[in-house]
Amino acid sequence: MTGLTSISPMDRAKGALLGLALGDALGTTVEFRERGSFEPLTGLCGGGPFNLKSGQWTDDTSMMLCLADSLLATGENDPDDQINRYVRWQQHGENSSTGSCFDIGSTVSKALQRYTITANPLAGSTDEWSAGNGSLMRIAPIALFHHAEPLPVLLDAAAVSSRTTHGEIRCIQACQLFCYYLQKLLCSQQTPDKQQLLFEFGREMTAEMADWHPDIKQLANGHLSEKSVDNIKGSGFVVESLEAALWCFLHSDSFEQGALMAANLGDDADTTAAIYGQLAGAYYGYSELPSNWLSQLFWYSHIENIAVMLVNFPAEQDILTFLKAARKGLSYLETEDKISDEKLELEFLTATANHDICIPGLNWLGWVERNGIRHMLPSERIGWIQKAGLGDCLAFFTATIQAKCFLRGVIILSIRHGVMNQLLNRIEYHLHDI
Ligand SMILES: [Mg+2]
Repeated sequence: MTGLTSISPMDRAKGALLGLALGDALGTTVEFRERGSFEPLTGLCGGGPFNLKSGQWTDDTSMMLCLADSLLATGENDPDDQINRYVRWQQHGENSSTGSCFDIGSTVSKALQRYTITANPLAGSTDEWSAGNGSLMRIAPIALFHHAEPLPVLLDAAAVSSRTTHGEIRCIQACQLFCYYLQKLLCSQQTPDKQQLLFEFGREMTAEMADWHPDIKQLANGHLSEKSVDNIKGSGFVVESLEAALWCFLHSDSFEQGALMAANLGDDADTTAAIYGQLAGAYYGYSELPSNWLSQLFWYSHIENIAVMLVNFPAEQDILTFLKAARKGLSYLETEDKISDEKLELEFLTATANHDICIPGLNWLGWVERNGIRHMLPSERIGWIQKAGLGDCLAFFTATIQAKCFLRGVIILSIRHGVMNQLLNRIEYHLHDI
């Protein structure tokens, strides 16, 4: 599939995150098993070392969700906030599909322990024996969030995010190369040829930047396309892991075929398939993911919404312009004592119409349900907003605007009860923090 296939950035973004989770849920069944020692997988079936239900995923997806939550909540790449979420996952099971932390890698575990002692969020070991695949397996949210920014910004974000748990140079550069591939895809509506994506663009990229570790550079120079499957290992070593994922991507014709290939390598099967799933999901797009796998995937619509929010997150300047306009729209509350509901709503909508910060493509009803907004009283909504991250504030606004077609008076009620004002205050608070 090349050339004529047109896929939107949003479909590629959904493909990347859902592809990651699908690969994880598929591979965990044969995680830690030696290749050839098991009946090859043909689809999602659960089980494995953690005795999971079909569609349930492991640490790869949990850490991806923690990273995504952090980017959305803070509106920036904040290593402190990221590692604190990893700690909450480890200690309290935040973003776990079972409610508790399991399958945590030793490099991650040591980094989190180091962080609790030193308080330095860049806690990943730089030791050459710590070159695990734990930062690469979760990295896609960085590429989605920064996809429209210049390459150096993306590469820096990838490096910082890796260093929270994985500071070894090959871990960092694997994340950088991988984010570059994802950015290339997110920014191309026409799907490039796979060889062109991995090697032509890969060579361009490694030529531009000095100091590439030879292990990573050789992945981008095309040698892996000549290798036979016997020389491919789906291990926990980041170089082998990335090579295996790229190899499966290159030697398959559909998301499903490549994911099965990656998982059936055994060993660190869930992570090989999760790395594959990010790239292949972005490449083929959301609509090419197997629907019978998606229907079993835990937190399917939540992960989809997270991808939409990351890739469609408004620029800081646009949020600032919106704030100014929205404040102007609300100013009639103070200047006109007896302004009618109709006029107040019209003034607010007119003021903000050209500075819309609604997140396009958000499944706002799903978001409202997940956060329990629907049955909250106005005072409870205000309390909820006071603790909300920036992304959730934007989603709240999106939901309010969208709901006006179905729920008469929703905007005027939120203005009259002070919910809208609190929302603007909270957005402003986050912008000061960035
Ligand atoms: Mg795992």
